[in-house]
Amino acid sequence: MGNPKGFIEIGRKESGYRPLNERIFDYGEVEQTLNENDRKAQASRCMDCGIPFCHSSCPVESNIPEWQDAVYRNKWGEAYDLLNATNSFPEFTGRVCPAPCEKSCVLAIHAEAVTIRENECSIVEKAFDSGYIVPQVPIKRTGKKIAVIGSGPAGLSTADMLNQAGHTVTVFEQDDKVGGLLRYGIPDFKLSKTLIDRRINLFEKEGITFKVNTKVGQDYPVDKLLNDFDAVCLACGAMDPRDLPAEGRELKGIHFAMDFLKQQNKTVRGELIADAKRILAKDKKVLVIGGGDTGSDCVGTSIRQKAVSVTQIEILAKPLDKRTEDNPWPFWPNTLRTSSSHLEGCTRRWSLATKRFIGKNGHLTGVEVVQVEWVLENGRMNMKEVPGTLEIIEADLVLLSMGFLSPIHAGLLDNLGVEYDQRGNVRSVDSSTNLDKVFVAGDVTRGASLVVWAIRSGRDAAKKINEYVMG
Ligand SMILES: Cc1cc2nc3c(=O)[nH]c(=O)nc-3n(C[C@H](O)[C@H](O)[C@H](O)COP(=O)(O)OP(=O)(O)OC[C@H]3O[C@@H](n4cnc5c(N)ncnc54)[C@H](O)[C@@H]3O)c2cc1C
Ligand code: SF4
Repeated sequence: MGNPKGFIEIGRKESGYRPLNERIFDYGEVEQTLNENDRKAQASRCMDCGIPFCHSSCPVESNIPEWQDAVYRNKWGEAYDLLNATNSFPEFTGRVCPAPCEKSCVLAIHAEAVTIRENECSIVEKAFDSGYIVPQVPIKRTGKKIAVIGSGPAGLSTADMLNQAGHTVTVFEQDDKVGGLLRYGIPDFKLSKTLIDRRINLFEKEGITFKVNTKVGQDYPVDKLLNDFDAVCLACGAMDPRDLPAEGRELKGIHFAMDFLKQQNKTVRGELIADAKRILAKDKKVLVIGGGDTGSDCVGTSIRQKAVSVTQIEILAKPLDKRTEDNPWPFWPNTLRTSSSHLEGCTRRWSLATKRFIGKNGHLTGVEVVQVEWVLENGRMNMKEVPGTLEIIEADLVLLSMGFLSPIHAGLLDNLGVEYDQRGNVRSVDSSTNLDKVFVAGDVTRGASLVVWAIRSGRDAAKKINEYVMG
C-alpha cells in the first residue's frame, strides 16, 4: 500500500461516459479514461485491508490489492503481470465485467468502492500501448493435440492456457469471426471489436490455430474430432433463446435480441445486410421485453439506429435503490442497475407481463400487457395479475431479451452423446463430462452467465485437460 491515507484523502473518481448528444450518433465505446495521475490516485485508494473480499468475490481471484499498489508505484508492467496471472483478458473484463469485486470492497461499507474495474482496464491498455505485451511462444511443444469448440471467452481462455503449456491447440468456430458473444452479442459501444482482433493476433503468433466457418458436428464430424485430437473442450455457449409463445407471436416485427444485435455488430464492421433480412429500429416504436443486460444492449442499439421511442419492460418488480437487511455487504447487491444505454432515453417499466401481440395486415402494431404483483406463498414468490390493469403498448418492433434456456443440443452435443443436467446444460464434474477425453467450459455447462465466469471456467478446464493428456 503506497499511500496509507489514500482512501481517506481521495474520493472515487470515475472516467464517466462520453457526452450523450455525441455518443448516440456512433458506435464507439461510451466509457472514457482518466489521465495517468488520476488513475494512480484512484489505485492508491485501495487500503490493503488485510482480508481482501474483492479478491474472493472476483471469479478469477484477481490479486487486486497487489496490482493497485504496483500502479501507485508506477510499476505498470508488474501490475499487468499480476493481472494476467489469473486472467487472459483483462481488456474484456476491464470493460464489461459487472465488477462483483467493487461490491465487496471494504471501502464500500462506509464510502465509495475503489474503481477496480476501470483501474484494471487502464493497466492492460497501458501495457499494450507501451509495447509490454508481446507474443509468448512456448519454448517446448508436448505433441498433444487439443480441440476447443467455440471461440467465446471460455474457449479462448482454455486455448491460451493449453497453448502456453506447450500443447498444440486448434479452436473451431462456426461463425465467420472469432469471439463468440464478445463479438456478436456485446455491442461495439461497450466493447470495441478491434480489442478482440488485437488479442487474437497475439494468440496466432503464439501458435494457436483458428478454424472459422466450421460448425463441428456438421462441417467437421464428431468421430473425426475424437480421432484427430487427444482431448476436446466444448466451449460452445448457451445460445438457445427463451421465446414468448403468446398469441400473435407469428406477426412480422418480433425478433430475438441476438438476431438484432448480431446484425448491428456486423454492420459496424462494414458488412452489408440485405434489406429483406435487416432488422432496423429506425423510425420504429421499439419495445424490449426483458430487463437484463441483453435488453439494455438492445436499448442502446435501437437509440443509435434512431428509433422513435424505446421502452423496456420487465416482469419482475422494480429493484430497490439500496441494499436491504437480508442482502448485506459483501454479497452481490440486488439493487437497481442503470446502464449508459438507459441514460440515453428509454422508458423503463417493471411488473408487466405480456398477454398477446397485436397486429394489422400481418405486422405488429402493439403488445397487450398486464400489471402483476409478486406474492410470497408457501415460501415461493408467485405472480398474480392485477385486475383491471390491461393496457396496450404501441410497438412496431419487439426485441425478445428474456435470456437463454440452455446450449443448443441438436448437432454436436447430441451427436457426441453428452449428458445434460436438469436445466439442459452439459453436466460436468470438475470440467469433465460423462465422455472420455471430452471436457467443458463456460456457458455450455454453467448456463448463460458472465464473461469473467467464462474465463475462469476456461482456466479450470485447461488445468483438467493438461492433467488428462499428460497423465
Ligand atoms: C447481448 C449480450 C450482452 C452481454 N453482455 C455482457 C456483459 O456486459 N458482461 C458480461 O460479463 N457478460 C455479458 N454477456 C454474457 C457473456 O457474453 C457470456 O456469458 C459469455 O460470452 C459466455 O462465454 P462462452 O465462451 O461460454 O460462450 P459464447 O461467448 O457464447 O461462445 C460460444 C461460441 O461457440 C460457438 N459454437 C457453438 N457451437 C459450435 C459448433 N458446433 N462448432 C463451432 N463453434 C460453435 C459459437 O458460435 C460461439 O462463438 C452478454 C451476453 C449477451 C447475449
Ligand atoms: S475481473 Fe471483474 S470481478 Fe475480477 S477484478 Fe476485474 S472487474 Fe473485478
